[in-house]
Amino acid sequence: MSLLKSIPKIDKFINNKAFDGFSKELITKISKEIIEILRKDILDNKIDFINEDILIFKVLEKYNNLIEPSLQTVINATGIIVHTNLGRSLINKKSLKKAIEIATSYNNLEYDLIEGKRGERYSHIVKSLQNLTGCEDAIVVNNNASAVFLILNTFAKNKEVVVSRGELVEIGGSFRVPEVMAQSGAILKEIGTTNKTHLRDYENAINESTSMLMKVHKSNYSIEGFSSDVDFEDIVKIANQNNVIDYYDMGSGHMIDLPFNLSNKEPSILQIMKYNPSLLSFSGDKLLGSVQAGIIIGKKELISKIKKNQLLRMLRVDKITLSILEDNLNSYLKNELNDIPTLNMLFTSIETLEKRANTLKEKIQNICICEVIGSETLIGGGTTPNRKIPSIALTISFKDFKANKIEKLFRQNNLITRIENEKVLLDFRTIQENEIEQIANIISGVFN
Ligand SMILES: *Cc1c(COP(=O)(O)O)cnc(C)c1O
Repeated sequence: MSLLKSIPKIDKFINNKAFDGFSKELITKISKEIIEILRKDILDNKIDFINEDILIFKVLEKYNNLIEPSLQTVINATGIIVHTNLGRSLINKKSLKKAIEIATSYNNLEYDLIEGKRGERYSHIVKSLQNLTGCEDAIVVNNNASAVFLILNTFAKNKEVVVSRGELVEIGGSFRVPEVMAQSGAILKEIGTTNKTHLRDYENAINESTSMLMKVHKSNYSIEGFSSDVDFEDIVKIANQNNVIDYYDMGSGHMIDLPFNLSNKEPSILQIMKYNPSLLSFSGDKLLGSVQAGIIIGKKELISKIKKNQLLRMLRVDKITLSILEDNLNSYLKNELNDIPTLNMLFTSIETLEKRANTLKEKIQNICICEVIGSETLIGGGTTPNRKIPSIALTISFKDFKANKIEKLFRQNNLITRIENEKVLLDFRTIQENEIEQIANIISGVFN
């Protein structure tokens, strides 16, 4: 009982010098919580003394935990370039600087400076997309998932959309094509089988309630062996002959041809545009290498219908997104592809990666055992399923530590690695040159 009497009084406790310079309101709130826990512990006979210094320590610890940013930078040493868990594409610092100017100042987001009247927020990226892709018109929404939803809802509500069974995919974050379609109000008309869909399947499926032939990028899986699907070029032809819309959800979509022969199975946006499609959509932050967004390009008449859908107001992007995206598209127009970090990483030569790996090796080889090896990685983000790209990695071992112990120690210091053949690997495909020093510091901190 006497212990209860010696519980510090809040009013006095919060005036302790240790709390000087901290928010009084937050210290008071946390102190009340900590003291309440103390009271319970006393009643449950869990403690038999009170140490005010420990209480102060607990309050400050909780305070600091609370105000520490939850969203932090990490070093991506997994080799996966478009890593959805690690924030997908990196934004160029220059683009972001421009966005800071726009966002911290009034701007012409929806204002036509020449006419002096209301303008359209999408106008800022339309010209670049027209020049780059030859599209008639374009629109941008929150992400590609919302682009898919908006398109289906605009053109296929209570109407049939023809999709191959081999393309009814689920991608990360519980985006499932059949479910998105149901929610949009569109009626799914499945055709073909899991492994094979033929042109005649599309032709046979079309009837008076058909609104659209849709192709979906397989994203995170591939079918090998006895399989075939129909090229989008042929789907466009059938759609035109039957007066229905063709639409390709490209998922990632890449503007230019990819290295390592990836483009022979994965045509670029520019290649697909040669077929004169009705509508295409793709992500802003996968291989395009920009900010989170969903980009829709295609026929003017169709885009203008999308603009009339009330849903667009719910899915619209803000000035920061538009500014970053405009700058990214300009990098393509100017052919300054080095300004796009995602492409930069993808196109870096093996020799350069090897040089960087050796630079790190020299810094840490007297701390742990490390070896530069040839490796393979994936682009990730459902861009080029099961297609390996060459890379260089540094393997790390230390004393008798198991790989998963090292991986965890690194991870808890924001260095994200992968384990292969019981060894921790730092893959240089995703390690930035300016991160090498930082990695060396983390490794020496962890092992010392
Ligand atoms: C990634 C992807 C989406 C979703 O795009 P987000 O930009 O992540 O919303 C939709 N469809 C396909 C085929 C995808 O690969």
